[in-house]
Amino acid sequence: MNTETNVLVLENLTVGFDGFKAIDALNLNVRKNELRVIIGPNGAGKTTLLDLICGKTKATGGSIKFNDKEMLGAAEHEIVRAGIGRKFQTPSIYENLSVFKNLEVSYPSGRSVFGALAFQCTPEIKHRIDAIADEIGLADFLAVDAVQLSHGQKQWLEIGMLLMQEPDLLMLDEPIAGMSVRERELTAALLNRICKGRSMIVIEHDMEFVKKIADKVTVMHQGKILAEGSMDQVQADERVIEVYLGH
Ligand code: ADP
Ligand code: MG
Repeated sequence: MNTETNVLVLENLTVGFDGFKAIDALNLNVRKNELRVIIGPNGAGKTTLLDLICGKTKATGGSIKFNDKEMLGAAEHEIVRAGIGRKFQTPSIYENLSVFKNLEVSYPSGRSVFGALAFQCTPEIKHRIDAIADEIGLADFLAVDAVQLSHGQKQWLEIGMLLMQEPDLLMLDEPIAGMSVRERELTAALLNRICKGRSMIVIEHDMEFVKKIADKVTVMHQGKILAEGSMDQVQADERVIEVYLGH
């Protein structure tokens, strides 16, 4: 495969906890402009995989190439700066700040203490905040404190905070957990909009949701890749039915 079309290339990626391999010699390629969904049973290693890519957990072996650059061993902030954004399962927003402020502090130069002191909300930044608030459906909530948002709106705000950094690769871990049916529909539409011009990795269990967003689906099991392909291909795969979909 032409590596130029891959934003992310994982080779032999491995991490062990007390001799147990949570990720076991895993190989995975994600292409530019692709929305990849990762599914698999609890404990398969999905969250750990994202932890390795964003530098939260250090791999014990293998390689993580992002835009052809080795990221293994890089610090978390370097990985963010290189263009990888990651959303955790519980939103990490500033509840006592307004939606506008939450987005503003997420602007890259506003992040360090020095940057925050020198920070000026220029018309260009304001424009980006407005555009992202519109994208995440919170244009009418800019002045509202985040604490007052619904569960779904908080999740969208955190996605918006990641978008402020204009990542090339955006990773979301179970973004629709706890959402209402309507919020799930809106989130599927949101992800289909924001995947334009970037790559995404989304971990999700809800197969109706996966169907709406996935370009390609990777099925993980016991720290390895069990199957990979279109939604139809993995749904018809006997091994996938056996370990995951049949339950
Ligand atoms: P998933 O997200 O697919 O449900 P996880 O990646 O959370 O799975 O977990 C994979 C396995 O790795 C589980 O058995 C879990 O207990 C183990 N694990 C994850 N993180 C750690 C850690 N920091 N220390 C020890 N074991 C861990
Ligand atoms: Mg998980």
